[in-house]
Amino acid sequence: MKQENEKACTGFSTGSEAGGLPIEEYIRQAALRLRQPVAAGFLYTHSRLSANAAKSLEAASFLYALVELLIEKGLITIEELDRRKQTVGQRLAEEFKRKGMGVMLQDPEYDKYSFSQEVSLACPSRLRLCRGACCRIPFALSRQDIREGIVHWDLGQPYLIDQGDDGYCVHMDRETLGCTVYSHRPVPCRAFDCRKNGQIWLDFDRKLVNPDIHRTHWPQDPAENEHSEGCSSREDAGAKAGP
Ligand code: SF4
Ligand code: SF4
Repeated sequence: MKQENEKACTGFSTGSEAGGLPIEEYIRQAALRLRQPVAAGFLYTHSRLSANAAKSLEAASFLYALVELLIEKGLITIEELDRRKQTVGQRLAEEFKRKGMGVMLQDPEYDKYSFSQEVSLACPSRLRLCRGACCRIPFALSRQDIREGIVHWDLGQPYLIDQGDDGYCVHMDRETLGCTVYSHRPVPCRAFDCRKNGQIWLDFDRKLVNPDIHRTHWPQDPAENEHSEGCSSREDAGAKAGP
């Protein structure tokens, strides 16, 4: 069945021809053509990174020189500086996070295959109500997920889970609302407990779903009605607890 689908998509099968060339040769040449723009893209990225590193080094030299002078002149102490550095660092990290700047990775990171705090809920009996809303909440992948290469991340927002135009994780089966990478799903998907998440359930036990989940851009745009509790990222979270 899979082979038939592949054939229907490409119009080719092994051994057939494309543009007068055997398919293997056609693919080889297409890959070679693609290599050049990709290499040019890498060259640009690496050049920018190198220029940024040089600028950072220069800025750090100025800063260290300034700090040393201030300490030498007795205007500040190293302890005062450390304390202030911590506070400012936290503030900037929050701001970066809010603005979606920088690379996002799970922190702390756990081995997903030995993760012991999985949440188990009777998802199939609730899917008709919640529509798998948990799989619309963005979250960061781990280094383990990225190295494994099974779960896709958003190329425009590294390393957030890749979501389709409908806002759902690309790995969610749109018909069954099940997870197509269930045994490899990231830790946030294993740990997410929607029971106390007011954005999804107004009352979990009474199966009262928050109507806001039917909004097109939920959970990115906080609703303007009384149900809204603001947007969440799935820091503590994941998706459905059953396939
Ligand atoms: S449970 Fe599966 S479908 Fe849902 S967010 Fe996680 S990886 Fe995606
Ligand atoms: S974990 Fe997700 S799929 Fe399961 S009940 Fe909660 S919102 Fe629905």
